[in-house]
Formats: sequence, C-alpha cells, structure tokens
Amino acid sequence: MGWLVRCPFCKEDRDKVVDSRSSDGGRIIRRRRQCLVCKRRFTTYEKTGESFKLYVVKKDSSRVPYDRDKVVAGLQKACYKREVSAEQIRHIADKVEEDIFKNFDKEVSSAFIGESVMRHLRGVDKVAYIRFASVYRDFKDAGELIEEVSQIIQESEYDGQPKLFDEP
Ligand SMILES: [Zn+2]
Repeated sequence: MGWLVRCPFCKEDRDKVVDSRSSDGGRIIRRRRQCLVCKRRFTTYEKTGESFKLYVVKKDSSRVPYDRDKVVAGLQKACYKREVSAEQIRHIADKVEEDIFKNFDKEVSSAFIGESVMRHLRGVDKVAYIRFASVYRDFKDAGELIEEVSQIIQESEYDGQPKLFDEP
C-alpha cells in the first residue's frame, strides 16, 4: 500500500483489481487490474508488500515489462489440440513464475523464461514441448531438432514399457 499503480497504457492511476493470486509460496502477489479510464487490463506484482517491476530482456537487448499472459499464450499455442487442460497450463505458468521470482528481481532474460517453460512442459506433453522448443530454442538446423525429437521418442519408448526380454 502507499504506492501508486499507473496504467501502462494511458498512465492514469485509477484501476480496480479483478483477480489476485500468489506465487512463490505466497511471497509474490500477482494482481490483475483493469484501468478505469481506458478499460485495458494489466498485471502488477507485489513482493512482501512492495510493488516491483520485472523486465524481460529479449535477444535484441530490448526490455519489456514481464507479462504472465505472454507465457500463458506461448503455452496455449504449443498445447493447441493436445490433451493439456487450462488448469495444467496455469500450473506450468505458476512453476515458471516461481523459477523467475526465485532468481530475479529486476530483469530476467527471455531465454531463461523459455528454458523454464521447456523444463516444465517436457514432463507434461512431449509434442507440445517440441513445438515450444522449436520456436524458443532456435534450433540452428533440422539436424538439431531431429536429435531432440529422437531423444524424446527413445525416452517415451522406455517409459514404463515392459522389457522385451527378462534379464537372466
Ligand atoms: Zn489506462
């Protein structure tokens, strides 16, 4: 309290909170707000009662305010037509935010976020993981992608499958 929240779009300071959630074991409170002037929605983060602004540093070194919606949108795209529920996506986004907030206060690289998403997505849906990885990891050539895919296929073949032959 006592700090002013300004709309990132029109810079007015009148808004209402439409949703609040905590992450990082309650250390971070994320509030979804709606500007009463321009009606657009934005998210703020508070840590132990203070607001903080986290920026994402992109590959071209430009900085943009961290936005959970972008993480969720990336996940939704990767999980398109896969059997991954909205709840699972929210859960992955929570895990990713935990990773981010545990490690960074002011700036986080987009590469860190991408790697974190991949780490948590990998165990949930392998196809979605490959989709996401192919965009975010920037595979240098098809060979690299094929290597990653075949490694995953190998893993899933060994996942809980009975052995073909019993050990002597
Ligand atoms: Zn506004």
